[in-house]
Amino acid sequence: MLKFALVGNPNCGKTTLFNALTGSTAHVGNWPGVTVDKREGVYKKLEEAVSIVDLPGIYSLSPYTPEEVVARNFVLDEAPSCVINIIDATNLERNLYLTTQLMEIDVPIVIALNMIDEVEKAGDSIDELELEKRIGLPVVKVSALKGSNVDALMQRAYLASKQERKGLTVLCETALEHVINDVRIALKGHGVHNPLFHAIKLIEGDEIEVEMHKETVSMVDDFKEVYKHRVFGTDYEALVADGRYKYIVKHFSPVYKRSKSRSYASEKSNRIDKVLTHKYFGLPIFLVILFSMFHLTFSNDFLYLGAIFKLPTLEDLGLLTNDGEFRNYWVKLLSCFYDGAIFSFGSALNNFWNEIIISEIFGLIKNTVLNSGLSVWAVGLINNGIIDGVMGVLSFLPWILTLFLFFSLLEDSGYMARVAFILDRIFRKFGLSGRAFIPMIMGFGCSVPAIINTRTLADEKEKVATIRVIPFFSCSAKLPILTAISGGIVSFYGVGNADLITYSMYLLGVLVAGAAVLLMRSTSLKGEESPFIMELPSYRMPKFSSTVMLLWDKAKHFIKKAFTIILASTIVIWVLTHFNFSWQFISDDKIDKSILAGIGQIFAPLFTPLGFGSQLGTYGWVFVVASVTGLIAKENVVATLSTLATCLIAVAGKDALGLDLLAEDGVDAVKAMILVTNVSVPALLSFIAFNMTTIPCFATVATAKGELKRRKAFKATMLFWIVTSYLVASMVYLVGTYWWTAFIYLFAFTLTAFIIKFRNKRNKKV
Ligand code: GDP
Ligand code: MG
Repeated sequence: MLKFALVGNPNCGKTTLFNALTGSTAHVGNWPGVTVDKREGVYKKLEEAVSIVDLPGIYSLSPYTPEEVVARNFVLDEAPSCVINIIDATNLERNLYLTTQLMEIDVPIVIALNMIDEVEKAGDSIDELELEKRIGLPVVKVSALKGSNVDALMQRAYLASKQERKGLTVLCETALEHVINDVRIALKGHGVHNPLFHAIKLIEGDEIEVEMHKETVSMVDDFKEVYKHRVFGTDYEALVADGRYKYIVKHFSPVYKRSKSRSYASEKSNRIDKVLTHKYFGLPIFLVILFSMFHLTFSNDFLYLGAIFKLPTLEDLGLLTNDGEFRNYWVKLLSCFYDGAIFSFGSALNNFWNEIIISEIFGLIKNTVLNSGLSVWAVGLINNGIIDGVMGVLSFLPWILTLFLFFSLLEDSGYMARVAFILDRIFRKFGLSGRAFIPMIMGFGCSVPAIINTRTLADEKEKVATIRVIPFFSCSAKLPILTAISGGIVSFYGVGNADLITYSMYLLGVLVAGAAVLLMRSTSLKGEESPFIMELPSYRMPKFSSTVMLLWDKAKHFIKKAFTIILASTIVIWVLTHFNFSWQFISDDKIDKSILAGIGQIFAPLFTPLGFGSQLGTYGWVFVVASVTGLIAKENVVATLSTLATCLIAVAGKDALGLDLLAEDGVDAVKAMILVTNVSVPALLSFIAFNMTTIPCFATVATAKGELKRRKAFKATMLFWIVTSYLVASMVYLVGTYWWTAFIYLFAFTLTAFIIKFRNKRNKKV
């Protein structure tokens, strides 16, 4: 099959084009370094099917980071039938720098002038026929985003792929001409493929190249010696780069016609950047934006209007019956959006989803099962084992999607790249570059792609440190834990605000990450942070359809997980709690005699210092068990609590708390847990902290193992997660319970910091 490779600078629209050509939904973001590995798809609109390969972005064919090497090697080693060189036309000159290198390879090339819509919007124009003539390669104007002209591009690529092409260089007009030519001929004599390309890279002294053709180094030096009188200076790398730029400016730049009225857009974006990336205000603005996101997602009191204006509740309005039921269906509907306060966007959506959709559907199923005449244990397994577990997880879907929507808007607009820029200054103090921020913030979505993204970090130690802290950026699967527990705390104990608790737990994760990185970078993982150069992409209006696509993908993934891994786990949990060691069925209120209770009680003492161990008595082990099932998938934590909740309500007496057995969601489950175990608020917070920082889910562990090249580093990472979670959770519990222990911790931290500083100083002196 023909193979076309998409090659270009970071953020020039390769993945957008890839999606447009192949109908895939690969991740597109408005910042460099989204794609870190190659990805294949098929384009079917030509005479024959063509395989399209999306590659990580590169600025030059002398790569610095592992993911850039992927792109270079693909072009050189896999001999694609055609290279589609995508160029961000709004940045023509800089993008053509890569083109001048690609054209030295013996491979058919077609140039796609992408983002032509933005060029035209600015009132500029590009003479593509003139460019084609000057550069000697087919040039096609496209807009990957709008899908315009992409089929014409493919036609040109198809034609090009049928012809052989010999490499050419723009350096033939420079003083390097002779040395390049002689080295090229010599390499050709040695049977080297792409001799022109390799000759130039060898002359530059490119690291990979020199490593690959060690035997030729002295020969190249000899040639350099011969032509020494023609060349000014010895920095060949700079000479080559300079030659390329001069050629671009002289021959290619004139094809770009600027309109006079231009730069309005860039002026506007500069003005925005002055505020958003301000030295002092930049960070506070980011924190406020982040908090607004959480507020809009989780708050049950939008802008705190209810609290400020003492808005009336539904009861005050006389909309409830004497037994506290809704007067009619409309009141029930209203209650999803308003009850003494306006619910924020995410919360309203969540109420609607749970009260109107989920509980109705599952309630119907539960009733059908109940009246079907199945045996007691079968009804229990289906209704309480399976449905409660799956429902407990599904009930969080709108919250997850809302938060994801906000993150995706920040990312697509180009703001995230600014945040990386702001944070660079702070990250440097922690021994990381701002680049590390991107995988970290991706961790809020899912740790797996986040860990893969650390390939963009050139320094191995920086990469290891980043991988270790990524799980502390609470992922969407951990969101149910956070919200169910904070919801439980607020509605059972009546303290705090759900959005404030959630936000501070997220922040706690970030703080722990910061402290851990600081510690690692000044002890076991000392090293230079890599230089951080990231261009700021232009601000863009996020595209509606691609945002919807992204959310749809996320929802599909989540629902699939609920009905596979989570379902399987809840069945196992249900069976283990409804049978005793002699495999006799036991009823809901006897679960303290079950197999799981037996096992859980053995481990419970380990968690006593964290507040959810032995001190919780007969049923305390439920928290331990929930944490363990979280190792499979973090959604399991709440699913397990939901599955066990029915049993605990049975223990407490059926109508305790007025918990409706049919309307089981995560928050109700936590309320049941609190009622039966008397677990305290600090212990609940410690439970969140523990699950947030401990060994992440199975998929993340496997990914980390794959990315950490050395076995020892992987083992150390597992240990690091266990120790950190234990320390952090016990600290949350102890400080929350006995406030004065805060001083002990403070003292311990200061002492540690001093010892490290002292040792590092002494080591430096030696
Ligand atoms: P990659 O890093 O090269 O894979 O670039 P992406 O495909 O991730 O796109 C980077 C950004 O450019 C995203 O915000 C896209 O929406 C945007 N983009 C891509 N193609 C076009 C285009 O033709 N026109 C405009 N206006 N934006 C585009
Ligand atoms: Mg990409």
